[in-house]
Amino acid sequence: MKGDKKKKIIKTINIDVDKCNGCRACEVICSASHAMPKYSSNNPARSRIRVIRDPLRDIYVPVLAGEYTVAECAGRDKYTIDGKEYEECAFCRASCPSRTEFKEPDSGLPLKCDMCEGEEDGPLCVKWCLAEALIYEEREEEVEEQEEQEELEIGIESLIDKYGKQMLMDAVARMLVKD
Ligand code: SF4
Ligand code: SF4
Repeated sequence: MKGDKKKKIIKTINIDVDKCNGCRACEVICSASHAMPKYSSNNPARSRIRVIRDPLRDIYVPVLAGEYTVAECAGRDKYTIDGKEYEECAFCRASCPSRTEFKEPDSGLPLKCDMCEGEEDGPLCVKWCLAEALIYEEREEEVEEQEEQEELEIGIESLIDKYGKQMLMDAVARMLVKD
């Protein structure tokens, strides 16, 4: 019911940009482990973590894919940290029309980090990051029941934007008949 609270495990990957060396092992393992069938291919463009790289300025920013958004931001942020100027959108996690990251290359559908749901040892990008730039943490929090519903609606909205309502409804109808 709306407003009810329930316990939820909040999973976090802490990112230390100073430790990242831009090796992109995280992109490789993420894309391979999410390939269908699993480990059948490896294409960093399909990774749910992307490393924003500018080697000449010693800038490496691993970013995990977050929410899908229909429209790009009207305003942008620009950060300068320890004398390094980071590009607009460098820290943004959105799958957004203004960038190529976090979109499935063939279908254009948004990609989102699922924290390697189902992997016994937790997030694989963390495991493969030998530089220890990615550190995994879990904590328990009380959240509104409504939140999960909202996530589902965002996913459906992105499919409607991509394929249109009728095509989506036809696809669901076909799947239900198969079941
Ligand atoms: S595996 Fe670690 S060091 Fe390598 S690019 Fe990814 S976050 Fe950076
Ligand atoms: S936690 Fe898993 S799904 Fe998320 S970016 Fe890392 S490897 Fe990819």
